[in-house]
Amino acid sequence: MRALVLGSAAGGGFPQWNCGCPNCDGVRRGDPRLLARTQDSVAIAPASTGEPGGWTLLNASPDIAAQIQANSALHPRARRDSPIRSIVLTNGDLDHTLGLFSLRESWPLVLYATDAVRQGLEERNAVFRTLRRFPTQVTWKRLELGRPTPLEGEGGAPTGLTVEARPLPGKPPVHLVGVTPPSPEDNVGLWIRDPARGKLVVYATAVSRVDGLQDSFDGADALLLDGTFWSSDELVALGLSRARAEDMAHAPIGGDGGTLAALARVRAKRKIYTHINNSNPILLAGSPEERAVLDAGWEIAHDKMEISV
Ligand SMILES: [Zn+2]
Repeated sequence: MRALVLGSAAGGGFPQWNCGCPNCDGVRRGDPRLLARTQDSVAIAPASTGEPGGWTLLNASPDIAAQIQANSALHPRARRDSPIRSIVLTNGDLDHTLGLFSLRESWPLVLYATDAVRQGLEERNAVFRTLRRFPTQVTWKRLELGRPTPLEGEGGAPTGLTVEARPLPGKPPVHLVGVTPPSPEDNVGLWIRDPARGKLVVYATAVSRVDGLQDSFDGADALLLDGTFWSSDELVALGLSRARAEDMAHAPIGGDGGTLAALARVRAKRKIYTHINNSNPILLAGSPEERAVLDAGWEIAHDKMEISV
């Protein structure tokens, strides 16, 4: 499989428009130790067969148009065309769904989501009508928890990959808190397989706890994990917010209870932190936190990172 990291930042991006934290200030000043990043999204395809392959997007970030422009594999090859065959949504957060509305130019979209995510987007949202200009503009495909589903493009064209959604501890999107009852379908991780080649990529970019998850990450050829925050009190210590990492449903990387310690023995060939908040000190090359992550055998995603497994 090939995975292209289209965006490696958490919601808000890096720099974030209204943030003057040391990282955001530094990247605006052109500090060479810092690299700007767009908001979390990945494109995935089977290993190249020599043909222009079909791609599946994992989430549609608000930066999707710029991300497509920045990655020539996603450019059209005809007057009206897109090599993007389908889009899988891990939750209904605007960070992961707003990009759908930037793909509204009368092109059929095949969207994979749990019922809870689909309902939150489609049934409670008048704006979604902009994606109903013609009857087949959006084809929904249901993600059932724990059941591998073939990833298909328009008309059922196979991509060669399967996706299995598994519930991850998280939270419903901000705009649905108190509106709909919480559901295990609100927030999922994706286990994406290329059955022909026996490859597995796991994408889990919003998870509030990882205890009990190690076994399910074992055997991955690549694990893309929630790297939003280094510490629980990161935003509090910087004076940016009163929310702790766990309040925002993101397990921190560092510390005794962090994912670095909890997943030290996970057997994945490549372990990659992505969905990195702009406040996270691992973004600063040479920082002790960056060192700790790299020394533990993890990688830190950046935009346009290409992962071949
Ligand atoms: Zn910032």
